[in-house]
Amino acid sequence: MQREIKLKNVSPRLIRLGRKIIEYELRQSRRARCLRITIHPGGELSATLPQGMNINKLENFIQQKTDWILRKINLAKKRKPIMLLPKSSRREYLEKKEEARKLAETKLKEFNEFYNLDYRRISIRNQKTRWGSCSRKGNLNFNYRIVHLPEKYLDYIVVHELCHLQELNHAKNFWILVAQTIPDYKEIRKEIRNL
Ligand SMILES: [Zn+2]
Repeated sequence: MQREIKLKNVSPRLIRLGRKIIEYELRQSRRARCLRITIHPGGELSATLPQGMNINKLENFIQQKTDWILRKINLAKKRKPIMLLPKSSRREYLEKKEEARKLAETKLKEFNEFYNLDYRRISIRNQKTRWGSCSRKGNLNFNYRIVHLPEKYLDYIVVHELCHLQELNHAKNFWILVAQTIPDYKEIRKEIRNL
């Protein structure tokens, strides 16, 4: 039986690899010419299916690589997190606050040359669980710990909040907007969650 899948859709699927059932992310690509398997830094598996190719062919291909895939996933899971953020303290917050503000302002300015949106106040906060937020009034808030982030994560966080000025939710249009300047936002988002 042929399973029907929507184009350009990214969806989680299950596949048996040896004695294990593994979840993988199915990606459809119009540009891809051949099958591609990726094991991400957190050990997640994704596979790219070129347009017009049957999914059974892809899953056969994945199963042929079972040993290699399982070994890679195990290795990725054993690896320590890419970086550990220092524990936040009130003192560090006060020390780094202005540095964080300057960084956020610079990045906002840079990306807003592209997006050209209106924002009001920028606040730097000491939060445990959020990197940033955007209020309905158009104020942008960032966690002071952005000063510790590699640039690609910082860029993503700034663009994410900037795009909320136009799209307040996380619906499709929001991600389309983000992808205009951060095409690999999906990977980055996953990596940030692992921090
Ligand atoms: Zn958001």
